[in-house]
Amino acid sequence: MAAGRFQELAAIRGGIMANNANHFGNPAAPELKVNRAGVALQPGVRVGFTRCFTCNNMCGLRYRVDEATDKITRLAGNPYCEVVTGGAPLPLKASVAEAYQALYLGKDGKIFRATSCGKGASGLDSVDDPYRVLKVLKRAGKRGEDRWNTIPYEQALQEIVEGGNLFGEGEVQGLRAIRDTKTPVVPGVPEFGVKSNQLFATFNEEDTMRGSLYGRFMRQGFGTVNVTTKHGYCGAPVGVGYAMGLAPEIGAGMCDVDWDNFEYAIFIGTAPGCSGASINRTGSGLSKARVNRNAKYVCVDPILRSNVTKGTGAQWVPIRPGEDTAFLLALIQVILNSGKENQKFLSTPNEAAAKKIGEINWSNASHLINTETKTLADASEFGLGEKGDGVVYSEGVLQAASKSGPAELYVDRVFTNASPKNVRYKSALQLLKESANEHSLKYLSKVCGVPVETIEAVAKEFTSHGTKVVAVSNTGNNGWDSVMSSWLICILNTLVGSHDRKGGAVYGNGAFMGFSGNYDLENVQGGVSQDGVVSVCRNYPYESSTEYAEHVKNKENPYPAKHVYHPLASDYTGLNAAEALLAIANEEPYQAKALINWRSNPVYSASSLPCEAEKALRDTKKLPLFVAIDAFVNETNRNADYIIPDRVMFEEYGCDRTWGNFDQCVVAGVPVVTPRTALTADGRHICMEEFIFDVAKKLNLPGFGEQAVAKKDGTKASLKRFDDWYAYYLSNVASQCEHLPKVTDSDRELAALPRAMKPLETVLTPEECAQVEALLSRGGYYEKSEKYNGDFLANGGGKFLQIFNPAIAAQKHCFSGEAYPGIPAYEKPKFFNGEQWEKYWDKDQYPLVLSTYKPILRSNYSGFFDHCNQVSPQNFIYMNKNSAQLFGLKDKDRVILTSPDGVTAEGVLACDDGVAEMTVCVPHAYGHWAGGAEVREVDGKSLPVARRRGGGTAVNRLIPVDPTRPGAVKVLNDYYAGAFCRSGIPVKVEQYREMKPIGCPVM
Ligand code: SF4
Repeated sequence: MAAGRFQELAAIRGGIMANNANHFGNPAAPELKVNRAGVALQPGVRVGFTRCFTCNNMCGLRYRVDEATDKITRLAGNPYCEVVTGGAPLPLKASVAEAYQALYLGKDGKIFRATSCGKGASGLDSVDDPYRVLKVLKRAGKRGEDRWNTIPYEQALQEIVEGGNLFGEGEVQGLRAIRDTKTPVVPGVPEFGVKSNQLFATFNEEDTMRGSLYGRFMRQGFGTVNVTTKHGYCGAPVGVGYAMGLAPEIGAGMCDVDWDNFEYAIFIGTAPGCSGASINRTGSGLSKARVNRNAKYVCVDPILRSNVTKGTGAQWVPIRPGEDTAFLLALIQVILNSGKENQKFLSTPNEAAAKKIGEINWSNASHLINTETKTLADASEFGLGEKGDGVVYSEGVLQAASKSGPAELYVDRVFTNASPKNVRYKSALQLLKESANEHSLKYLSKVCGVPVETIEAVAKEFTSHGTKVVAVSNTGNNGWDSVMSSWLICILNTLVGSHDRKGGAVYGNGAFMGFSGNYDLENVQGGVSQDGVVSVCRNYPYESSTEYAEHVKNKENPYPAKHVYHPLASDYTGLNAAEALLAIANEEPYQAKALINWRSNPVYSASSLPCEAEKALRDTKKLPLFVAIDAFVNETNRNADYIIPDRVMFEEYGCDRTWGNFDQCVVAGVPVVTPRTALTADGRHICMEEFIFDVAKKLNLPGFGEQAVAKKDGTKASLKRFDDWYAYYLSNVASQCEHLPKVTDSDRELAALPRAMKPLETVLTPEECAQVEALLSRGGYYEKSEKYNGDFLANGGGKFLQIFNPAIAAQKHCFSGEAYPGIPAYEKPKFFNGEQWEKYWDKDQYPLVLSTYKPILRSNYSGFFDHCNQVSPQNFIYMNKNSAQLFGLKDKDRVILTSPDGVTAEGVLACDDGVAEMTVCVPHAYGHWAGGAEVREVDGKSLPVARRRGGGTAVNRLIPVDPTRPGAVKVLNDYYAGAFCRSGIPVKVEQYREMKPIGCPVM
């Protein structure tokens, strides 16, 4: 066993022993007395349901609170929630008492469990964390020095809104002066909008309900377009790439696995149950498939993780990080060259033809592409039909794609179009085959590090189970090429016809949203419109920009663009909080006047964001005002001028989607303990909502205050108290839920409903209250629907699957002006200007390749929670033991990891056979330098440094920047979507030695 894994176990034991030193053998009393006759709540205990936000999965939880201390003493899974019950939740009609009977006594003679993961269970530490921010902090020294004074909330509010000489450093404009919704921010560039956009706002948009209030304030109320979130430095390119295979338009999407019926699966990029999406659903889905049905699967991953178990049908395929495209094209080469693709499915060019053969989806595999223009052949070019209709070759003639029956899959012929002109046309599948064969199998195998025999074996297995197979990723493979590799994952499912098939690639029913219904929460009368306005991240195609138009007007070659643009799914990839920090650092396209960062931490979480970007946050000339709203001092907001305290997840309402749920659902949470934050002068708990309500009132912003929300019945409602928005949102959601349970007094007691409902009862009508109470009684709403319709998913069908995607082929890269490839192809890693990584990053000097991943027991947020730290106090730098030997390294060595930018990180090496050769794997979410790990002074007193919170190696800053990217401060983007890139990075590992610190001095 490698040192790292041994030490992790030792640390688990050590942590448990240390933590329980005063409690061993003296567990908390059970919350309930349960037997077949009934359920009785223990006096002094409160139980109920809420939702977890320790990671972005947002699972349903059940909680236990000790009423005497108002402390959470236990968190576990909600028995009605699909993702925490292994896909077998209780029906909503089961009473809460019956739910506890099932949990305590079993169900139908079997054990019934509803569990949260370890990091979720540790979330209770968030409430009374000794390093939590409870009072408003104003910096006492320079930004980033971690010296603070507590000040009255009202003082902070006044200063932030009105500005002044706030720090003795000169005048600072407040929000009132910054809000200018009329004057252009960059004269002559209309798409950048008005000066209000100089307020930048960041947040985590996964919190739908609270986030939508924040978004309303920023966009429609204050009037800034620069409201940015984590997607662009998280999984955006993977979602965009996969969606390119699903439809002719480019959105964002991802498939899931039909856990109940798949026979063979390829997991690529992340290991299910070990990272990314919730272990609660994927882990149980995988283990049941393995144990109960002998399902087989491969994990194509640089590191071996616990879901590949000896003696089962699971296989680990080690891969060189960042080379997924090579592996996937190699698989496709084998499949197409051996004729193992599902030709019957692929040859149907339209819906009607698909129906005739009993299919519900179809593809453009047989559609013809003009090889000169690299566009789809159009039926109108051949006099065959309407413009926009494709062309196929069927029964010896060209036909309109919409009217043809099964068509030829491999076409490479010259046809005369209506011009008339002789042009060579090829079918989409022909082009894919050519692309897959552009390099030999041996070459692709060498590039990705997967032996030819393994590739052939995986291809054979993948095509040997009919449609009960699936290829899936979950945002793990964020390389420079993740758009292409994710598109190929979708195409693999197309080649076997497994989309929406029982046992294949499935797509969940989504979530209930509460923006409309009884209350119109979307539209703001008199609100600021953002139509036609773009963000500082340039979330639009270059060809739509003023920069481009001016080149054209001046008859100049418009390429290369002077900036990075985000043309693909631009409101997803191009509203990137880390890119917004770059814009601050580069003061481009205009200067930021203020930043409000709510519960978000791009400085820590965004890969490749350099030290200069953090330094810019400390530069009062580049960023005159910085307000953070958070319960914790994280790596980003430690650089703020003010920190406004916020509620943590157990003090807030929540109503969100949850990943991994197949049935349509919404997970709901309520404040389960009293908020710990200080009170405003008029007795309200300080939090994000109270702050924006007060700012809105001072600035008289639209969308807030009296009569601010239109109701369905034509009247209006106020939006001025913490509970208002949540009452309206929950009511909108509950009104859509057709089968809400009937709530009994027993439910009320066992789900603490009187307490949860009390604030809402003053806002909603009795009828609305009854619906919301029913929603909260089960911790959300989980619609049970028929999953299958014969051999298909009941919710499936209507997908026009894309082998050739015309929307991406229509895009041009803003540097080169070259069209994006309409068919995925293998390329070597390249920078923004098209030059290869190898040119700048010497392979001899940096011979290893870095992969990073999300570990099971840690999220970026949970690193601040003591229980989480005790279980998993540090990470390790994992390396193949033979590769380590080549560099004179061995297990347990203290080493330095260096990237081509010269940025270093120190850590402990863990060597074994479970890592791909010449690869270094480091899990995320360790090595914090804030949240208690820093030297913090408040009101002149130093807080003890919680060294354990800084345990392990932080990896994101190691990712080097693209030296060719425009701007003084740079990052590393993926080539096509312009999102962030963090896989396949060249590095070197050496024995630890004393060295001059490189990187950001505050670390
Ligand atoms: S997977 Fe995430 S949301 Fe679910 S219980 Fe664990 S930490 Fe909470």
